[in-house]
Amino acid sequence: MDCIFCSIAAGRVPAEIVYSGNRVLAFLDVNPIHPGHVLIIPKRHSRDLTELPEEVLGELMLATQTVAAGLVHSLDLQGFNLFSNNGAIAGQSVFHFHLHVTPRYPQDNIRFVHGTKEYGPGEMAAVGERIRQAIRDNVSSKEQ
Ligand code: AMP
Ligand code: ZN
Repeated sequence: MDCIFCSIAAGRVPAEIVYSGNRVLAFLDVNPIHPGHVLIIPKRHSRDLTELPEEVLGELMLATQTVAAGLVHSLDLQGFNLFSNNGAIAGQSVFHFHLHVTPRYPQDNIRFVHGTKEYGPGEMAAVGERIRQAIRDNVSSKEQ
């Protein structure tokens, strides 16, 4: 499989690496929203969050916290965004799971532009129940 982030993790493609752990790697995005925009990836290929093996999750979040703190201190940030695009519909362009950490600055005009909707009568409870049911099914299928 031809995956650019697998190639970076294997050292076949150069990247500006800022953190490397057992199962996780962090490097600078080549087309940053701001300089210092970091991508954090599992070294082993997973397409998106739903496919990530459980054993990677802890290290991934710890590394994300470590990297974010490094950004805050080195770039003297007042804040940052943490996000991940999962699926083409959500804007994912590299199909190897990654978290973005992007510095934020006053008046940098970066916005997640969207309207908000309202739930109809009973709709919020129905949607909540659908999601709870799916989570219960998923948890019990893993326990079997
Ligand atoms: P996404 O659109 O969420 O899938 O983000 C993919 C990100 O990967 C984009 O912000 C790209 O700029 C970045 N990217 C793609 N190829 C490379 C590369 N070789 N090194 C560093 N970042 C990359
Ligand atoms: Zn990959």
